[in-house]
Amino acid sequence: MNVKHLLEKLNIQPKKSLGQNFLQDPNTLDKIANAADIAPTDTVLEIGAGTGALTIKLAQRAAQVLAIEIDERLLPLLHSQLRDFPNVNVYHADILQVDLDVLLGGRPYLVVANLPYYITSKILRHLFEARHKAQRLVLTVQQEVAERLVAAPGEMSLLSVSAQFYGSPRIVARLSPSVFYPRPEVASAVVRIDVYAQPPVEVPDEQVFFHVVSAGFGQRRKQLKNSLSSGLAISHTAAADLLTRAGVDPMRRAETLSLEEWAAIARLFAAQDARLFVQ
Ligand code: SAM
Repeated sequence: MNVKHLLEKLNIQPKKSLGQNFLQDPNTLDKIANAADIAPTDTVLEIGAGTGALTIKLAQRAAQVLAIEIDERLLPLLHSQLRDFPNVNVYHADILQVDLDVLLGGRPYLVVANLPYYITSKILRHLFEARHKAQRLVLTVQQEVAERLVAAPGEMSLLSVSAQFYGSPRIVARLSPSVFYPRPEVASAVVRIDVYAQPPVEVPDEQVFFHVVSAGFGQRRKQLKNSLSSGLAISHTAAADLLTRAGVDPMRRAETLSLEEWAAIARLFAAQDARLFVQ
């Protein structure tokens, strides 16, 4: 039975507010599960199990699947769809409230999910900031977000810097709205992010790095010397000096910088004598 009929039979109306666009095309489900290169010994975390269509594909490939779903209306359906898969544990929870370190108990894991688009950035942040991170993520997101994740200097954003700091993102498939029910208003893409064991650039400390990057993107259209001056609460002269010493023209804009350039600025900022930065 297709997803639409299944939900109609159960009298479940998909909720836009929960980002409910369910996948119903078997080829797409296989494509997503295959992109994760799941080994029979792997543990997979699925965010937003929905009707269980993707969960089944994951359960057929992995040792264990931990499937999180916030909508309690879907739980009876999930339990019945997954009854032949004792290797699946369904949790009724909001992923943003789940402590991944506790849930996974320190074992290696992958994340595969068709994300609820209304909280994509928050979920990415939750995954990246977990103490014990996934080895790789295969995520269906809005195409526009996918493009931001893989952007190159010239079109970078805080999201691209974060994703590329934690891993190497690439787009593995583009999905038309027709593979979902109901159809989303936007095109989608599947992104695979292989998470690094160590960041690809040397930073003094992750917090300082992101403090500097967030300051830089705080006023995106401004030249870096201005955005860093207000975001880091330092004088224009100190900001220009910091950038020059990091080898970055103070007139450039945040979206043009590479990760290495951000790291160079963050290293110098961290090493600075605080007195130099009093306005
Ligand atoms: N995996 C299913 C599929 O591919 O058909 C459903 C994907 S649908 C785009 C997103 C799912 O995430 C929905 O089932 C929705 O109820 C669930 N969801 C939304 N917000 C959530 C949250 N904060 N925590 C866990 N699940 C959530």
